[in-house]
Amino acid sequence: MREPDGGVEPDVDGVEQAVSTGLLPGWDEVEQHVGDALERYLPRTSGAVADYIPVLAAADPELFGIAVAEVSGALHSAGDAEAGFSIQSIAKAFVYAMVCDELGHDTVRERVGVNNTGLSFNSVIAIELNNGHPMNPMVNAGALATTALVPGATPAEQWERIRTRLSAFAGRQLELDGQVYHSEMLSNQRNKAIARLLESYGRIDRDPLEITDIYTRQCSLTVTARDIAVMGATLADGGVNPVTGVRVVSPQVCRDTLSVLAATGMYERSGEWLFEIGLPAKSGVSGGIVAIAPGKGAIGTFSPRLDSAGNSVRGQRATAYLSRTLGLNLFASAARPPRTESHR
Ligand code: GLN
Repeated sequence: MREPDGGVEPDVDGVEQAVSTGLLPGWDEVEQHVGDALERYLPRTSGAVADYIPVLAAADPELFGIAVAEVSGALHSAGDAEAGFSIQSIAKAFVYAMVCDELGHDTVRERVGVNNTGLSFNSVIAIELNNGHPMNPMVNAGALATTALVPGATPAEQWERIRTRLSAFAGRQLELDGQVYHSEMLSNQRNKAIARLLESYGRIDRDPLEITDIYTRQCSLTVTARDIAVMGATLADGGVNPVTGVRVVSPQVCRDTLSVLAATGMYERSGEWLFEIGLPAKSGVSGGIVAIAPGKGAIGTFSPRLDSAGNSVRGQRATAYLSRTLGLNLFASAARPPRTESHR
C-alpha cells in the first residue's frame, strides 16, 4: 500500500534514462544537470521538517543544496551545498564501514545483520520480532549495536575514533554541534530504551547508556551536502578519498557497505527507492541524502522537509533526476549493438 504522502515518487516523467557507460559524463554536462536538478525541484515545498528532536524543528525549511563528487576528485554543486546540518542517520553508513574495516565482514554480519526490517528507523517491535537481533545496521537498533563494536578502551576513545574516521571520509575535521547533541540527549529516551533492550538480548556488551551517548554524538556531527558527497565518493572509489587521496577503508568494506545501503539505507522505503532510483543511498532525519554510484562518484543533497518515512522530499527527487540524467542507475542497460557472427 502506498503511504499517504506517496512513498518514493521520483518525479522524473519525461526525463530520458541515460545508460551507464561506466563513466560520468563530461564536466560541463554534470554541471548542467546539477543546476537543472536544483531549479526543477526548488518549488517543491511538500513534507515537514523533523520536530521530534526539538532543535531540528528550527531548521530553515527553504534550504536546498546539491553536490556531486566524482572519483576523479572533481566537485560540482548548486544551491546551499555549503550549508551545515547534523549528519544524523547518514553517520550509520560510515560507522558501519569503519567497524567492518576493524572487525571484519563475518563478525559484523553475525552481530548486527544485513537485512531490512521493513519497519521505521526507531522501531522497538522490530527487535522483539527478531528475538533481539537488530537485523538492520541502518536503523537505530542496528546502529547502536554497531557503535558498541567500535574499538576503544573508554567511551571517549571510541568517540574520538569515530570522529577521526568520519573526518577522513569527509576529508576535513568534522565538529560536533553541541546544540544538536544536547537537544537530542534530552529527547532520546527511546534510543536509550532500544540500547537497554539490545543489552538484555546480549547484543550490546558495553554500557548501553554510554553507547547511546556516543551514537548521539555521531549523529550530531556537522556536515554539508558537499561533505556527504565526498564521503560517499570515498565508498565509490574503493575506499580512497578522491579529494585527499587518503585510503580510509578497504575495497571489500566499500562493497559490503554499499550492498547493505542498497537493501536498507532508505528505511522501510529501501525497496521502492532501489526500484525507482537504482542506487545505494542513506538518508538522515535532518534532511540529508547521500547516494553512491560505485566507480563513478556520489550525490549529496540537503533539504529539511521530509516525507512520512523521514526521507527528504526534494533530496529524493533531485537524486532520482541525477541518477537518470547522469546514467547512474545500477540496473539500467540498453541492448548491445547488433552482434557480429563471430561474437554471437
Ligand atoms: N539521531 C536520530 C535518532 O536517533 C537519527 C535518526 C535518523 O536520522 N533517521 O533518532
